[in-house]
Amino acid sequence: RPYQVDKKVLTTCPHCATGCQYYLVVRDNEIVDVEAADGPSNKGLLCVKGRSGCFDFVHSPERIKYPLIKNHETGEFERATWDEALDLVASKFLEIKRKYGSDALAGFACSRSPNEDCYMMQKLVRCAFGTNNVDNCARVCHSASVAGLAMTLGSGAMTNPIEDITKNPDVIMLVGSNPEEAHPVVGMQIRQAVQRGCKLIVVDPRDIDLAKKADIHLKLRPGTNVAFANGIMHVIIEEGLQDMDFINERTEGYEKIKEIVKDYTPEKVAKICHIDAEDLRKAAIMYAKADMAPIIYCLGVTEHSTGTEGVMSMSNMALLVGKLGRPGCGVNPLRGQNNVQGACDMGALPGDFPGYQKVANPEVLAKFEKAWGTKLNPNPGTHATDIFPAAIRGDVKGLYIFGEDPVVTDPDTHHVIKALESLDFFVMNELFMTETAQYADVILPGVSYAEKEGTFSNTERRVQRVRKAVELEGEMRLDTDIFTDIMNRMGYPQPYLTSAEIMDEIASVTPSFAGISHERLDKEGGIQWPCTSKDHPGTPIMHVGKFTRGLGWFYPAEYVPSAELPDDEYPTILMTGRILYHYTTRAMTGRTPGLMQIAGKSFIEMNVEDAEKIGVKDGDRVKVSSRRGQIETTARVGTKVSPGETWMPFHFPDGNANWLTNAALDKYARIPEYKVCAVKVEKA
Ligand code: SF4
Repeated sequence: RPYQVDKKVLTTCPHCATGCQYYLVVRDNEIVDVEAADGPSNKGLLCVKGRSGCFDFVHSPERIKYPLIKNHETGEFERATWDEALDLVASKFLEIKRKYGSDALAGFACSRSPNEDCYMMQKLVRCAFGTNNVDNCARVCHSASVAGLAMTLGSGAMTNPIEDITKNPDVIMLVGSNPEEAHPVVGMQIRQAVQRGCKLIVVDPRDIDLAKKADIHLKLRPGTNVAFANGIMHVIIEEGLQDMDFINERTEGYEKIKEIVKDYTPEKVAKICHIDAEDLRKAAIMYAKADMAPIIYCLGVTEHSTGTEGVMSMSNMALLVGKLGRPGCGVNPLRGQNNVQGACDMGALPGDFPGYQKVANPEVLAKFEKAWGTKLNPNPGTHATDIFPAAIRGDVKGLYIFGEDPVVTDPDTHHVIKALESLDFFVMNELFMTETAQYADVILPGVSYAEKEGTFSNTERRVQRVRKAVELEGEMRLDTDIFTDIMNRMGYPQPYLTSAEIMDEIASVTPSFAGISHERLDKEGGIQWPCTSKDHPGTPIMHVGKFTRGLGWFYPAEYVPSAELPDDEYPTILMTGRILYHYTTRAMTGRTPGLMQIAGKSFIEMNVEDAEKIGVKDGDRVKVSSRRGQIETTARVGTKVSPGETWMPFHFPDGNANWLTNAALDKYARIPEYKVCAVKVEKA
């Protein structure tokens, strides 16, 4: 019939954490189009994923639509009723709890699902499993930001709004972030800022497209962020450009950091970072002298064995020049997945209840015991990246993963698979039969963002509505109802709540969300937390007048090399990252034929000098090996990466970079070192 629509539903993009607003256009219970809306972070803009990757997966015939139980004799999954599947899940988890104790269980929440889902998932783990072994995929992307910003400033989140840091600044310092690929609508706004005359400093080992627009590009050696930041601070102090009034009134630890950075002369840093000393000097002076200059960073800073120190070094630079707590400035991590900020805010973290209230604090524990009406485990749980070794050791026996795919996304794939195979019982909630789901004993069908109500919190702490556009098919159940089903079966009786009622419960136990409700979001649009009461307007800029922790703290960071460096056997550094056309494991974007046509296969970027040495031309197949595994992929030869360095996207199961990456962990946040491992590239 002629093109006509039944309704247009305003909602939030489910891919990156920019939080773009758009309308899903619906006809006959099917999404047929997307129209951009004028949201606070996207201003009517959308990227290719938002325009075309947001609905094919919802209606994909490959969706899992009913519970599946693995027949261990045949290895095949068989259709089950909800009662059969849920009874099995509850009885197996209870059996493990009885035999080995609560801490033999663990659950990973889904950073792509709404806040309400993540809140209920962590409640299931804490109240019914009886453990704090709950985490989310921030552990492998921005846990270093959560830890590092909390330690230095008091809150582990972006300090300023996207509009503020792209409209107002005189200088933008972009460190380890390629927003035109990973957060494209932020990338577009940075490009517009540069066109208006804003200066740009890019600190990145690759010639990303924004580097071509930069006034200074510091193409530093991967893994040397702390040395770079110390060099910047050395120059600022040498030039007398530090803000002593700010330092004296609002910070602590200045003398110690001054002592440390004294040794990081531009010449010494240039040698460590493989950059030009004069460029470093110019960048430091440009950043310090600007009135408004935000630091914007991403996983190039966090995904290192010294990731938390890297993040704290970003805070150190901003504290030194007083560029915090005011417009057009701040320290701004671009969070990865659509709701990874929210999954952390909702307490899907082993040491934190919702709102970063500490499990280890007896008063907080007592408050949650009262609110949730049960005795809680007082011991902080195990981080997701430590759960896999714990499973291999036999300490963790039962695992519930809600919508994550660690077989593709986590480092050192062999050890992830070994861990999953070591479990006594493994349950997944999933939209699709992913690489990880194949190892499950029970798969419960997941529900997409377009089929449910809720909220996502974007990278700038803005809580925005997710609205149901189409009805659930057949016998599918909301994820929050599934968690309630399991809680009830495990002896922790809970009522079935709507998403709006769950948000009311969140507000009642989480001071930073106390003023947030679906009703208010529907009336006012997004609200940036902290929002501490019903008449609080939200907080666009954090740390105004006072840091959340009181005084801002200069963390004394020394440069420490990456855990695995190139040697004769594996002479090349491998970095990994994302491309514009896909998100994470392509579970969603991989269902859009147009995106797969443009970008359907893995590849490795290598420098022309290195390629010539091994007789490889652009487009040749190559073998890439590390101490952990070997893959085959296609070479992209050029100068985007420096000699001795390579780069791969991690989205693709064929030639997946994570067979190669190193599971070395940061000591604070337990984040893995995806950005540096040693590999050998050979012609296939
Ligand atoms: Fe979606 Fe991110 Fe693209 Fe916006 S920039 S449309 S949130 S993927």
